[in-house]
Amino acid sequence: MPNKDSWFAGFAGCSGFVVCAALLVAVTPLTAENGAWFGTPVPTAASDPRKPIMKYDDAFAPLPARFAHRPGRHDELLDGAVLKADQKRIVGFSLESLASGDRLWGRRAATPAFMHTIEWAVHELAAAGLSDARVERYAVAGSMWVPRAWQLQVLADPAFGAGSATVTLESAFPQPGGATIPDAGLTAPVIFVGHGTDADLAGRDVAGKIAVIHVRPEPSLFGSAEQGAAARVVAKGAVGVINAIEGPGNALYVDPRFACGKAPCFMIGGEDAWFLQQVIGKAANAGVLDRLKVRMNLASSEQEGLAAANGVATIRGRSERRIIINAHADGYFQGGDDNASGLAVLIGLARYFAKQPRPAHTLMFVASGGHHGPGNGPGALVTAHPELKDNTVLVINLEHVAYLDVVRGKTRAANNTGMVWETSVTESAKAVGVTNESPFLVDLWKKASRCYGVATYQSAGSSTPGDLGGYRALGVPMTQMIQSGTFYHSSGDVYESVPAEGLERAARFHAFFVESVDQAPEALVKAAKGTTYQTGDQLGEQGCGTSPARSEP
Ligand SMILES: [Zn+2]
Ligand SMILES: [Zn+2]
Repeated sequence: MPNKDSWFAGFAGCSGFVVCAALLVAVTPLTAENGAWFGTPVPTAASDPRKPIMKYDDAFAPLPARFAHRPGRHDELLDGAVLKADQKRIVGFSLESLASGDRLWGRRAATPAFMHTIEWAVHELAAAGLSDARVERYAVAGSMWVPRAWQLQVLADPAFGAGSATVTLESAFPQPGGATIPDAGLTAPVIFVGHGTDADLAGRDVAGKIAVIHVRPEPSLFGSAEQGAAARVVAKGAVGVINAIEGPGNALYVDPRFACGKAPCFMIGGEDAWFLQQVIGKAANAGVLDRLKVRMNLASSEQEGLAAANGVATIRGRSERRIIINAHADGYFQGGDDNASGLAVLIGLARYFAKQPRPAHTLMFVASGGHHGPGNGPGALVTAHPELKDNTVLVINLEHVAYLDVVRGKTRAANNTGMVWETSVTESAKAVGVTNESPFLVDLWKKASRCYGVATYQSAGSSTPGDLGGYRALGVPMTQMIQSGTFYHSSGDVYESVPAEGLERAARFHAFFVESVDQAPEALVKAAKGTTYQTGDQLGEQGCGTSPARSEP
C-alpha cells in the first residue's frame, strides 16, 4: 500500500503516463484474494492510451469507398490512404506530448505539441503550392490550467473483507480548474448520487462527502445529461466529485463540463467506475458504508503569458470574395477523430484545389487554434483580419468527420452492465448544420449520403456547435457536419477509430461541396430557409449527375 505521505515521491522521476502507471501498478495489488473488497475484482491499470480500446477490422472491414479517378484531375490526392497518413502524422504530435511527460497531453493549444501541429500544417500547405502559407500567432488571454500529478484511492478497511488493500483508480483524471490539495490529500466518505439530478439528490446530504455521479455518455460526453452535475453537488456542499463513466475499457476522460471550479473533480473510466459503484453497494448492504472513504491528491498550476496560433493559407480566386475552410488543430489525447480527421481532410482539400483550375472565389484554408485550450483560434483570426467581415461568402468547418460507430451490441455483458460495446462497420451519423438553412446548401448536403455514402442524420438544422463559434462575429452563413462519439474527449479517440474509407468519403464530398458553392451565385448561399431557387444545376434533385468524384455504382 502506498504511503499516504509520500504520494508525490511516487511521481518523482516518472515521466509520462505509462511510466507513472507502471510505477503505481508496482505498489498496488492487481489481484484480490477471495473475500477482499466483498469479492469484487479489483480494476487493473487504465487502458493504454497509445492503443485502441475497441477492436477494429476484426472480422469485418468498414463500408468500402469506391470512387473513380478522373484522368489529370488529381483525385488521388483525396484517397483514403493519403488522408490516413496525414492523420497519423497529426496524432503523432499528441504522442510526442505524451512522451514528453505532459499529464494532460495531446495537442492542447499553446503547448509545444500543438505548435508543432500548426507548423506541420503550414509546411504541408506551402508544399501544396499555396504561396502565402503562414503561422499567425496570437496572445492568449488568461491562464491555462495544468495538472501536474494526482492520485485517487479507495481506502481499504478490514470490514471490506480479508485481504482488502487500498485501490488506486488508475484511470482517474482531474477535471479542469481543480486546485492543488495540500500534501496529505483530501480524505472523505463517499456518497453515490445517481445521475446527479435534483431527483437523485432529494433527501441526500452530500455535505463534507465525495459524491460519485454515474455518467452515461449517450452518445458522448458532448450530449451527456450529467453535464454540470459535478458543479451542482459541490454547490450543495460536496468536497469533491468522481464522475464515474459508463463506457468501454478504462479510458481517461477530460471535459470542462464535468469540472467543479477549484474543488477536485475527477473522471474515471468504465472499469474503475464499475468497481467503485460495486463496492459502494456492497458496503451499504454490509452496513459499513460509513467506513468507505476515498482519498484525493492533486497538484496543479496555472500557466500565464501564453501564445497560440492559426495556420493560414489561400488559393487566390478570380475574386477577393472568399470561402473559408476551417479545421481545428488542437485536441485532447490522440484526438484521432477530434480533430485529426478534420485537419487531415483540410490538408487533402488544399492539395487538391491547388491543382484545379483557378476558382471563382478565393479559398482560405485555416488550421485553427481551436477551442480546447486557452484562447480561441477562429476568434483570433476574425480579430486579426477585419477584411473577412466584408468579403467572406461562407465558412465551412471540418470537424469529427469520420468515426466508426461504437454501439451497444450483440451480447449481454457480465456483471449486469448492459450490452457489450461493439465497433460497427458504419460510421457515426453526423449532424448537418447550415446556419441560415439556405435551401441551396441543404440540397448540396443531400448529396453527402446519396452520392458519397457519408453517414448523416436524416435531418438538417441551423445549429453549428464546435469550432465555428469563433466565426459567428462575421455574420455570414456557416456550415458543417459533426458528431461526437463514445470516446469523445477520451483516450479512446485514437488513430484507429477513424476509417480511411470515411476520411475519403468526407474529403470527396467536401471537394464537391466547395466546387459547387464556388460556381454558384452568392445569392443562393445567402438565401434563407424557404427561398426557392434555380441554378440550372446539372446534378438534378435526385441523382448524382456528373459530380466529379461521386461514388461508383
Ligand atoms: Zn473536442
Ligand atoms: Zn472538435
